[in-house]
Formats: sequence, C-alpha cells, structure tokens
Amino acid sequence: MGYTELKNRIDDRQVTLLDGGIGTEILRRGYTWASHQLKTEPELNLEIHQDYINAGADVITTNTFQLSKRSFRNHFANDKHLAAMGASGLLDRAGELIHESVALADKARSSLGRSNTPIAASITTLEWCFRPDRNPDVEKIYDEYLEELTDYADAGADIFLFETFNSTSEAEVAIKAAKELKKPAWVAFVPYQDGRLLGGQTMAEVVDAMARNEPDVLFLNCAPPEHITAGLEQLAPLWDKPLGVYAHVGKFNPPEWQFTDDYNAEEYLQECKHWHDLGATVIGGCCGTTPEYIKKLTEYFS
Ligand SMILES: [Zn+2]
Repeated sequence: MGYTELKNRIDDRQVTLLDGGIGTEILRRGYTWASHQLKTEPELNLEIHQDYINAGADVITTNTFQLSKRSFRNHFANDKHLAAMGASGLLDRAGELIHESVALADKARSSLGRSNTPIAASITTLEWCFRPDRNPDVEKIYDEYLEELTDYADAGADIFLFETFNSTSEAEVAIKAAKELKKPAWVAFVPYQDGRLLGGQTMAEVVDAMARNEPDVLFLNCAPPEHITAGLEQLAPLWDKPLGVYAHVGKFNPPEWQFTDDYNAEEYLQECKHWHDLGATVIGGCCGTTPEYIKKLTEYFS
C-alpha cells in the first residue's frame, strides 16, 4: 500500500508494522556495522530489506543511521584539516550513500512485487544521539537538515523517520525541513528509565512541542523495553494522535552491538502486546531485533 493508504490505516489505529534492526542484522550476518556496507555489500542490504518485507513489515527503513555529511566532517578539526588529510570526495560521500540506500530499499520492494511499500529514511540527530549535552545550536542547523532531507527526497524516500532523538528542539527543526519538502515526518524519541527523554524533558513537554509540529506518528525507540514502557505510560495518556514504539534487544557494546538472550521474539511480542494495550499501534523493532521478531508480530497482529 502507498503512503496515503498507510496513513489512513494508521489514523484508524489499525496495527501497522515497521521493520527491525538493520545495522545489527548486518553484524549478526557476519559483517561490521561500523560501515553501512551499502556499496561493499549491497546484496546483504537488499536481502535484509527483503527479509523484513517477507516477515510482514508495512514500511521498510533505509540503512542510514548516522550517515550524514557531519558524521564524516566530525572526524576532523575543520574543513582545511579535512582537505589536508581526508579521503578524496569524502564530503560528497554521504549524499551518494543516501541515494544508494534508497535505491537498495526500492530494489528490495520491487523485487517482491511490493513497489508501494513506503520507504522511511532513517535520520538521527546531527551529533551523537545518546549525548544530549553535545546537541548543536538549533538556530544553526536548518540548512543542514534541509540539504540532507533533499538527498532522501530526490532519491525517492516516502517518509522521513527522525529517530533516536533526545530533545524536542532538534526534532522541531527536522520536522520543519520535512514540511518544506512536503514529505511526511515521523519522530521517534529515546526515553530513559524515569520515563523522561534521555535529554531530560518530560513527556508533557514532548506533547506540548509535538502538538505544535504535528508529526504523522510519534514514537519512542532505541531503548530497552523497560524504558520504552516507562516512557509510554507517561506519554500515551497525553497524546491522542498515532503513537508507535520500537525497542532494543541486547546491549550496546561500542562500536558494535552485543546480542543477548534477553527478549527473544516471543518475549518481545508480549512486550508489544502490552504497548499496544497502552495505545501504541505502529510497532517495530530497534537494534538487535531480526526478521523473526517482525514475523512474530505479523502472526499475532494481522
Ligand atoms: Zn536502536
């Protein structure tokens, strides 16, 4: 189904399924996730998207978390230093890989006769998502978002999924840029164990800011199930528009992910049922989840 049909379904509060982890799935299949492997292992990327579609995902997400011009630039003192010691064409690479990522997701959906399945562009904070203390000055980042989002829009992405955000102020800038490009914005925030955002804002503050900006779906993501539950218990009673969740399974073991026995697919489904009871209707998996997890959700919810 295309985005309009999907949005109608979401607005009717019918359960809609996202995909699961991609970077961690690349790792689980024997490669490092430190590189997105878009050019080096396109078949691997393609196969993971196909596996998620076959598992029942209604939306697939590009493998582009933290793939941005700034993430390359951040390795250097300044542009002069980058020019002196950076690889050639480095600053163009993010845009090229963004195009590559959308093309791979598109190829996956067409190969399965599912050309209408919307592609969500995975976009996170400009600086490190888990370090709200390092957030950029929001007055200065609009053009940077607009440039990045234009690459995704030109490549054919259907939705901007702003994920693992830790504060509403950066999300507001991102949504504004999405609206300028006339594309739907979905926003996912990281909750902490106290039910606030990782950056400290209360869910009441989140609702206040998001009500003014109107993302099509508001999510909690990229945290262990217990943190998602804590955040959702506070968010759901305050938010009357579509709500979604996708949680972590395992532990972050920088720079990679550590798979653990916590929350197998069946146990994850039990958490999802609880989140659905609390009001979440757009459901998927974050780091550590696999196509098997999405399949379990499909079997239960459809
Ligand atoms: Zn995650």
